Amino acid sequence: MSSTENPRMIRCPTCRKPVPWTTEQLFKPFCSERCKLIDLGEWVMEEKRIPGESLPLEDENQEDSFFQ
Ligand SMILES: [Zn+2]
Repeated sequence: MSSTENPRMIRCPTCRKPVPWTTEQLFKPFCSERCKLIDLGEWVMEEKRIPGESLPLEDENQEDSFFQ
C-alpha cells in the first residue's frame, strides 16, 4: 500500500490559478508574490478612494507657533 500525498488545492484570489496548499507555497493563498502584492495594492486603492478624512493641518500649525 502506498500513500500518495495529495495537497489540497486552492485558487489564487487574484488570478484564479490553482495553488497547492503546502508549506512550500509561501504566498498562500496566492500563487506568487506578485499576485499577493496586486491584491494588497487593490485593497490600498480602495481605502484611498474613500473620501472625507482630511488631516487636521491647522493643528500642526498651532503646534509650530507654540514652539517658536
Ligand atoms: Zn495568482
